[in-house]
Amino acid sequence: MSGSPHIVVIGAGVAGLAAARRLVAAGARVTVLERAPVVGGRVSTTVVEGCQIELGAEFLASFYTRTMALIKQLGLARDLRRIPSSAATLRDGRLYPLWPSARVAFTPLVGSRQKLALSYLAGSLMRHRPILDIHAFQRAAAVDDASVGDYARAHLSEELLEYVLQPPISGIFYWTPERTSRAMLLIALRAGLSRPAGLQIFTLREGLGQLARALADGLDLRLAAEVLSVTPDDGGGYAVRAHVGGAELRLAADGVVVATPATAVPRMLPWLDDERRAFFAAIDYSSTVNLAVGTRGRLPRGVYGLLFPRRETPFLASATVQTVKDPGFAPRGRDVICLHLSGPAAAALRQYDDETLARLMLADLRRLAPAYDPAPTMLFQRLYRCPEALPLFDVGHFARIERFARGEIEAGALVFAGDYLGGPFVEGAIISGEQAAGRLLAQLR
Ligand SMILES: Cc1cc2nc3c(=O)[nH]c(=O)nc-3n(C[C@H](O)[C@H](O)[C@H](O)COP(=O)(O)OP(=O)(O)OC[C@H]3O[C@@H](n4cnc5c(N)ncnc54)[C@H](O)[C@@H]3O)c2cc1C
Repeated sequence: MSGSPHIVVIGAGVAGLAAARRLVAAGARVTVLERAPVVGGRVSTTVVEGCQIELGAEFLASFYTRTMALIKQLGLARDLRRIPSSAATLRDGRLYPLWPSARVAFTPLVGSRQKLALSYLAGSLMRHRPILDIHAFQRAAAVDDASVGDYARAHLSEELLEYVLQPPISGIFYWTPERTSRAMLLIALRAGLSRPAGLQIFTLREGLGQLARALADGLDLRLAAEVLSVTPDDGGGYAVRAHVGGAELRLAADGVVVATPATAVPRMLPWLDDERRAFFAAIDYSSTVNLAVGTRGRLPRGVYGLLFPRRETPFLASATVQTVKDPGFAPRGRDVICLHLSGPAAAALRQYDDETLARLMLADLRRLAPAYDPAPTMLFQRLYRCPEALPLFDVGHFARIERFARGEIEAGALVFAGDYLGGPFVEGAIISGEQAAGRLLAQLR
């Protein structure tokens, strides 16, 4: 690249880090500015009393082809761990294996008449197959016409909605079927069912934070650096103003990648016109609360994740047993269970203090799945709030992404990346980061 342009990447989540790596590989000088004191954003692992706790993403899926390729490139392939067990959902006090596999076809969780209705869903999948692309969400805008709730009530059944569709939507994304587009459901099903071996899920030996740390390795990275504003300058570049440890930092950049959640964009770019401001302002996020509890014993080994239907509880969305994921997540003889509040519960209960929330979450688990109660041998508990957990892929969002893909939002050498553009998971964030870097390089050339 002629004259090595200077690029500022804002945000060291996996989208920003993937963008930065691609830009460095193309010969750019890159500075990454991150508000938090650590890298990774919503992909971050902490260690408490020798136990690994995921503060954001918990697993990678076998259809994350770009993430898996990066893992190989970064030399992490030997640290990839396949998660052996499935998830189960609860009905009337009984756990039923549900996912990730075709088990739903055989489960007594719902009756055979209900299962027959699933053939409608299979038909939709077949019909729309060519536009259901996990790496190009904009292609599915044509089926972004109804929520999963409306679609299931019209064509499937209330029971399938509440016991088969709602638990993973809530337990994985903290969304509700009423605010999830059927396009998202069809894309996720297509991706999950497309491999001959079915859906498999993975983690890394040191937790998924290991991926973020490896992506950040060797980059010029400033932590605890909050970007306050980005302003176009007279020469076609940008002036970036940030707060670093009480001092103000000013950088001149030839190009900028904004890889923060969408909600941060209008604050940083106050000069955006109304149309672009409205684009970012329309993107909503689910919230959750993660309560990680360490115990002196081992919890049941049967399943990795428990998904709780809202019909059974308004509070918990999921619980995951960390040593089922990989025994190395806790020292021998110990265990960690992570409980997550549903999106609506996290929003409704946000004014409660940590202690009250933890008590409520543990009492709910004891009532729903007593065998998983860690309280009698509790070692520690830590509560983490995620006010912006996952961007909603609700009705209308695919049309927004389509506009973005047509180039109606970006201008000049300022590009955007993040899971709200590429897909609400690690793979979507990484793809969006790499694509943003590609657009910026093309612009600068
Ligand atoms: C509880 C939870 C569970 C999840 N589970 C999974 C899972 O199992 N599998 C999966 O694939 N995905 C999962 N996800 C989703 C996945 O974590 C995200 O999709 C992905 O990490 C988003 O990456 P990103 O880079 O787009 O955004 P982020 O990770 O949010 O990165 C944005 C970065 O920008 C920084 N920033 C913001 N404002 C500024 C500023 N003004 N100046 C400087 N920096 C700033 C932030 O601090 C942050 O580090 C989960 C998410 C959550 C919250």
